[in-house]
Amino acid sequence: MTHQPTIAVVGSGPIGAAYARLLLESLPDARVTMFEAGPQLTSTPGESVRNIADPDEKKRARDLSQGPQAGSLREELGLSLAPVVEGMFTAREGTHLLDFGGAGSAHAETFPAGAASTNVGGMAAHWTCATPRPAFSEKIPFIGEPEWNELIGVAEKLLHVQSAAFADSAVGGAIRTLLEGEFAAELPDGYGPSTLPVAGDPQPDGSMRWAGSDVVLGELIDPESPLAQRFTLRDLSLVRRIEHDGTRVTGVTVEDLRTGQTSTFEADLVVVAADAFRSPQLLWASGIRPRALGHYLTEHPVVISTVALDAERMARLATEEQLDEELARRATNPVDPVAAVNRIPFSEPDHPFSLQVMYSETTPFPMAPDAPYADNRWGYVNMGYGMRKQPRYEDGVTFDDGELDYRGFPNMTVQHALTPSEDAEIAQGTALLRRAGGALGHFVAEPRLLPAGSSLHYMGTMRMGLADDGASVADPWSRVWGFDNLVVGGNALIPTATAMNPTLMSVAIAVRGARAAASQLAASRLESVNP
Ligand code: FAD
Repeated sequence: MTHQPTIAVVGSGPIGAAYARLLLESLPDARVTMFEAGPQLTSTPGESVRNIADPDEKKRARDLSQGPQAGSLREELGLSLAPVVEGMFTAREGTHLLDFGGAGSAHAETFPAGAASTNVGGMAAHWTCATPRPAFSEKIPFIGEPEWNELIGVAEKLLHVQSAAFADSAVGGAIRTLLEGEFAAELPDGYGPSTLPVAGDPQPDGSMRWAGSDVVLGELIDPESPLAQRFTLRDLSLVRRIEHDGTRVTGVTVEDLRTGQTSTFEADLVVVAADAFRSPQLLWASGIRPRALGHYLTEHPVVISTVALDAERMARLATEEQLDEELARRATNPVDPVAAVNRIPFSEPDHPFSLQVMYSETTPFPMAPDAPYADNRWGYVNMGYGMRKQPRYEDGVTFDDGELDYRGFPNMTVQHALTPSEDAEIAQGTALLRRAGGALGHFVAEPRLLPAGSSLHYMGTMRMGLADDGASVADPWSRVWGFDNLVVGGNALIPTATAMNPTLMSVAIAVRGARAAASQLAASRLESVNP
């Protein structure tokens, strides 16, 4: 009997899901086991919690994702709850801070909003689903244009990307027209205001079923599909170590968090897609320590504001009837406040920024009834400029073998600082945000720079490179240098300075990595049949 390839995937976010799906589709007798440290939240594994209509159920799902800060789950498992220290930043719902302030928390004074999600589906059970394509210098310099475009196309299909979401919204159209009036003359063709591509499936009632790892897994979680027979998802299963002999991995050691039992899982290929902090931490804990591991951390400095749409300007571009229609459509799906999504994408040389403009009937914060522009009939936009952080060795996460974190891993210290040129770009982006807000209406929340880590887009800590020169962790096919059967995935692979939301790009990189890994496994199998 010939050997059937066995694959271990660590992490159930969209990147782990893409590897699982592509490997099973291309290797007809392979088996994939996916290990996820967090719990399954929804009956469909990895579904976006934004699709949960019941507010209490949605809140519970978000709480369960909050790792060391998840109350009910940790009590159920008999684990102690990390105390929340007064004065700390509050994590976005569905996430937990790296530096949560309790025993075993990471040290991240210079990156205080750095966060993670611990649940089936990873952060993509909570994400906003914005999926723009990287452009200009955001792209990977050593992947040729035709191949890159094809990879992005496959990634868009895996994530169910819609490039014209809410394009029929009259209010959304009016917002684009006002932004065009302000900016179009100074932006290159094709890079002006447009609808923001998002991952999801439009529904007949005009709402969106938002995409998570569930759509990426596709047939793998359809019990009727033969692919599902070769796929196992194990939640509450913490991978503690990658087993290896220095050049080849042999499997993973896994702790079942329900029983506390530890076992070894043998594998021909291990894919680590456990986010940009915990993947390098797992490699480090396993004695796999390339010089660049954890370093070259980048994210997006983010400046945000909220603007009440100007009634007079809007009324010139959309009718009262169209607004009524829009409000009626919104009323059918009150749990999901986003109604139209626009953007101005990254372009060079003059607009190395990514502007996201989310139209909503209400502000994301309560307003006093007598505050100016409270209860604005035309609604509001929440706007954010994402900016670049250039990769530098000194920004990153390091691990301390002498101090264990709350999970028993070498604890993390995150170092992050903005340089004068980044401060200058932030000032430029903030000025653009003021212009955009001024074109649309009246600020009800002034532009403000969020604390470092707020973007939730953490990149560079396992960057890919052309050569094993100490400035990268993985080769151009996402294999860790020095190992041919250890693959890493996620935003951590992105080596460039970007402003766009990174998940689509990381799925495209994963498509390339999965194809190479599948060919390699198929070739080694042929060799074992015909030595
Ligand atoms: P993750 O989704 O982070 O999944 C990693 C998984 O690995 C986690 O579930 C974790 O529990 C698990 N894990 C970690 N360690 C271990 C271990 N040792 N053993 C087993 N399992 C382990 N991105 C965009 O592109 N567009 C957006 O609009 C956007 N909006 C966002 C909004 C929010 C509120 C959040 C939280 C994120 C957002 N993001 C957005 C980021 C996006 O969700 C991530 O880029 C994406 O989920 C990364 O996928 P991943 O598979 O690499 O990692």
